[in-house]
Amino acid sequence: MLPIERKQQILTWLQEEETLRIAEISERLEVSEMTVYRDVSSLVKEQKVLKTSNGVTLIDLAKGNPKGCSYCAKPVQSRLAVQLILTNHQVEQTCCMHCGLLRYNEIESRISQIICRDFLKDTTISAKRAYFLMETNAHMNCCQPEVLVFDSHKQAKQFQQGFGGQLTTFEKALIAIEKAMNGHGCHDSH
Ligand SMILES: [Zn+2]
Ligand SMILES: [Zn+2]
Repeated sequence: MLPIERKQQILTWLQEEETLRIAEISERLEVSEMTVYRDVSSLVKEQKVLKTSNGVTLIDLAKGNPKGCSYCAKPVQSRLAVQLILTNHQVEQTCCMHCGLLRYNEIESRISQIICRDFLKDTTISAKRAYFLMETNAHMNCCQPEVLVFDSHKQAKQFQQGFGGQLTTFEKALIAIEKAMNGHGCHDSH
């Protein structure tokens, strides 16, 4: 089994069982405890798990900070908020789609759904099928560059005519936001 496969297996077990001891993992994977330590250290670096006194546990950001954005820790306002439904049925929230996309990129393998609100109609929609308008002049007072979400392509286009910005899809927005951030945090001044 490759390191990446072992790490994925460890995460899957942790989602079902919450905590595991190193010895247990070593037994199940039939590798040395040294190898498990190495896999776990790399998961710790990726901020996916925590080492505890009795083993390893999944990082649960939603629990530690129930109302803040799980990417930038800003308070979450309902209108722009994004819900990330994880495969273990936990729910994370981000303050806006800017952080939603960045968080999605971080923990994609653990996300089963990403839910947000249509910017104009305020209805709940699935982000994967929505239209994204990036860097408009609307200035919603959250994270820059701003990302607005629309259910209808027609309305997104109409909004773009008034407020500018680039119209794109979920997949392309994920790439565009990474490029725009280029390794900086949301709060860097330019
Ligand atoms: Zn945020
Ligand atoms: Zn934000």
